Amino acid sequence: MSKIGITTTIPSEVLWAAGITPVDLNNLFINSPDNQKLVEQAELQGFPRNTCSWIKGIYSIVRESGIGRVIAVTQGDCSNTQALMEILQSEGIETIPFAYPCNCDRDLLKLQIEKLIEQLGTNWPEVNQAKQRLDEIRRKAHRLDNMTWEEDKVSGFENHLYLVSCSDMQGDIAGFGRQLDQFMAGLADRTPKSDMVRLGYIGVPPIFPELYDYLEEIGARVVFNETQRQFSMPHAAAGLVEQYRLYTYPYGVFERLRDIKQQLKLRRIAGLIHYVQSFCFRQIEDIIIRRQLDIPTLTLEGDRPAPLDARTKLRLESFIEALTYRQKSTTKNG
Ligand code: SF4
Repeated sequence: MSKIGITTTIPSEVLWAAGITPVDLNNLFINSPDNQKLVEQAELQGFPRNTCSWIKGIYSIVRESGIGRVIAVTQGDCSNTQALMEILQSEGIETIPFAYPCNCDRDLLKLQIEKLIEQLGTNWPEVNQAKQRLDEIRRKAHRLDNMTWEEDKVSGFENHLYLVSCSDMQGDIAGFGRQLDQFMAGLADRTPKSDMVRLGYIGVPPIFPELYDYLEEIGARVVFNETQRQFSMPHAAAGLVEQYRLYTYPYGVFERLRDIKQQLKLRRIAGLIHYVQSFCFRQIEDIIIRRQLDIPTLTLEGDRPAPLDARTKLRLESFIEALTYRQKSTTKNG
């Protein structure tokens, strides 16, 4: 099967239906052992220091991996994608734009999906078949997500890893399904970690995934990964267009907040980490999030793929300490 790089989650059903394997370029970049070097390589090519590291990483990984075609989400994801697309084009990479309509408009979204179908040479019946195959795997991912917050048996990192992988199914639908089965079968003997502070994580996935293990070291566990969960298409929808309308990530902060509020309550979350990426326009949304959510929130900024620095660790420790104290006082007084 040929491959196409994707800059974020898109209706990948169309690619699978066309016999093309999607490659989530974010995952490819961050999982590379040379991820720090990839950012530096982009800077050597002239990318400004004050550009998001995800963009620089994606640029370098496309060059390094030899991927010849990229679907770039020009609306609903990142304000830098247009320029990224242009530089890739200038270097001979074929780019295909995909735009999520800003107001969730059904007709515009359908049109975008149909353009992609036409461009990749497939059709609706094949796309709907691909959706059925993907939905079967997504249901497994949803079960894993439930086991994270209902049974307390899945770590925050494991939850992050499996849900974030739903964007491209790690390039192998059946293989990814088997991995999920094996992982969940292995959870039977695990002791639930129900004594830890329950955290929610919102925002784009962290550029330093060791954040999750560090949180567990200091007594807290992430039981809700907002964006990663969205990549698994958590809202059951019969049709493809509806499914990508219910997917909150591309449609702005208010759509996201509706989902976040529900999950915070359902998952009994004590505190929230809002991760923001350096030089990302989404940092501005932190203002709205803080105004609209009534829960202790720590805004955490990350720049490069590097181990957690001392300042970040200290901020996390103080936050968890405050939540632990709060929880104890509530139990005592309640
Ligand atoms: S973190 Fe922000 S700036 Fe960086 S790629 Fe994602 S949306 Fe774009």
